[in-house]
Amino acid sequence: MSKADTTETTEHGVIQSVSGPVVSARDLDARMNDVVYVGDEGLMGEVIEIEGNITTIQVYEETSGVGPGEPVENTGEPLSVDLGPGMLDAIYDGVQRPLDVLEGKMDSPYLDRGVDAPGIDLETEWEFEPTVEEGDVVEPGDVIGIVEETVTIDHKVMVPPGFEGGEVTTIEAGSFDVTEAVAELDTGEEITMHQEWPVREPRPSEEKMTPRTPLVSGQRILDGLFPIAKGGTAAIPGPFGSGKTVTQHQLAKYADADIIVYVGCGERGNEMTEVIEDFPELEDPETGNPLMARTSLIANTSNMPVAARESCIYTGITIAEYYRDMGYDVALMADSTSRWAEAMREISSRLEEMPGEEGYPAYLAARLAQFYERAGYFENINGTEGSVSAIGAVSPPGGDFSEPVTQNTLRIVKTFWALDADLAERRHFPSINWNESYSLYKDQLDPWFQENVSEDWPEKRQWAVDVLDEETELQEIVQLVGKDALPDDQQLTLEIARYLREAYLQQNAFHPVDTYCPPAKTYLMLTTIETFNDEAFAALEAGVPVDEIIDIEAAPQINRIGVQEDYEEYVEELKADITDQLRSLY
Ligand code: ADP
Repeated sequence: MSKADTTETTEHGVIQSVSGPVVSARDLDARMNDVVYVGDEGLMGEVIEIEGNITTIQVYEETSGVGPGEPVENTGEPLSVDLGPGMLDAIYDGVQRPLDVLEGKMDSPYLDRGVDAPGIDLETEWEFEPTVEEGDVVEPGDVIGIVEETVTIDHKVMVPPGFEGGEVTTIEAGSFDVTEAVAELDTGEEITMHQEWPVREPRPSEEKMTPRTPLVSGQRILDGLFPIAKGGTAAIPGPFGSGKTVTQHQLAKYADADIIVYVGCGERGNEMTEVIEDFPELEDPETGNPLMARTSLIANTSNMPVAARESCIYTGITIAEYYRDMGYDVALMADSTSRWAEAMREISSRLEEMPGEEGYPAYLAARLAQFYERAGYFENINGTEGSVSAIGAVSPPGGDFSEPVTQNTLRIVKTFWALDADLAERRHFPSINWNESYSLYKDQLDPWFQENVSEDWPEKRQWAVDVLDEETELQEIVQLVGKDALPDDQQLTLEIARYLREAYLQQNAFHPVDTYCPPAKTYLMLTTIETFNDEAFAALEAGVPVDEIIDIEAAPQINRIGVQEDYEEYVEELKADITDQLRSLY
């Protein structure tokens, strides 16, 4: 998103009034969603309302000091992002200005207003390797060559969707910057490594398909109980301090996507700083490559202008779609969509629109839906398959899920990971409430887990869910009459459920081994607890007192599976120990 390239302004208007991020101008010849430059400093904004001679603009930069009489220039173009190599390993603000470049341009660590920089570096040279030859016929979306963008990712250079396409007349390997033509077509069209795309328009695709592969996260409760598909949508609502950010970070680090787009939207600056400082040091657990090599970060912190929260969400999803077009699986995390909704509310109230529920604009639900609808598993226009998974954190005030942002999000997303303040308080992490959370992808992903982990994956999961449900019911009785009043078999069920909670559902994001749990380990942990369950009930039936069963030495070792690197061996021995010790009691 830049005015650094050749965009020429066409019309001038004059500022009539300024109200926070909302500016009215008169005499501006503009269309809805045109990008304009506001005031003497040329702050970037977008037209959001036109009434007669008055144009209303939301400004993506701080507007203090800007006043009536200053000029407004219209670019005549919609808000667009620059797409091309160099977006990975980059950190952007909400309007795709690279933060490191901006820091270099300015004296202070804060972003100056009106400072502009193109979203991708125009001077870096990339080694272009053609994948088509002169004489080949190419169509929009087709890949014509690759450049090695980072150690992990080959950037596919594609014919832009708006092109006519035709026969390749010249194409050559070599070193090019993103503005130089790497290929020419007989139509006269020149293909560079740089594309621009209007952020509010989804990039075209051939077909949206049913997703059937999980986005494996290495988080037991997610993969095991509430999986999200590649191309799926998920929401993580939770009160302050319940673990939204840690969960998003875990996904950004460990989800088996090719590309991660992380949008920090309106969250506190220190959380984003953590991301910016942490991420560059992290390594991919599989390849050992730096994780930033597959990551694009967009940082719009709470002290940055509110209107840019919207643009950062749209910028993020457009970048995600662009890598999807290359045939990659992309996961986008947005933390937090509530801050974006609050920005909509603020702008809407300054526009004096009729407020909907709790002051949010009536179009809140439609906007959220438009964002999540851009996720999916797609057949691309070039015939490849790619996906965008969208995972949004929601921060309901006071943790009350009945508020409009949570409720509207719930209607759209297919995976719901409900964070719970009580669990967080008890230091049960991740504090995802297993009674309230759900995944509508479970059934369609089962075949993948059956094929790649174990045939009985669905049954094991159901067993765990049943035990946990039973525990919830029994807990109500326990609260009334105490645990000792329960019959032995129910006491034993509570003990099994305790292991499910403590060993299986809890997972320490800060333990070097436990932080990532492959599906095979998730499965083996469950079967270990089930072994304990089956052997324990057999012992009970044979007349062994429940206290003796619970007290066997091996049982507490279940809680140590998570931290074992050589888990297969450990689990095998543990299952044998549990069986031996319980059978020796009768
Ligand atoms: P939120 O973003 O919802 O305000 P955070 O993600 O910052 O909450 O989490 C708050 C704290 O909870 C973290 O600083 C950490 O101590 C703890 N926590 C959250 N999730 C985990 C986890 N999976 N493992 C260990 N600790 C966690």
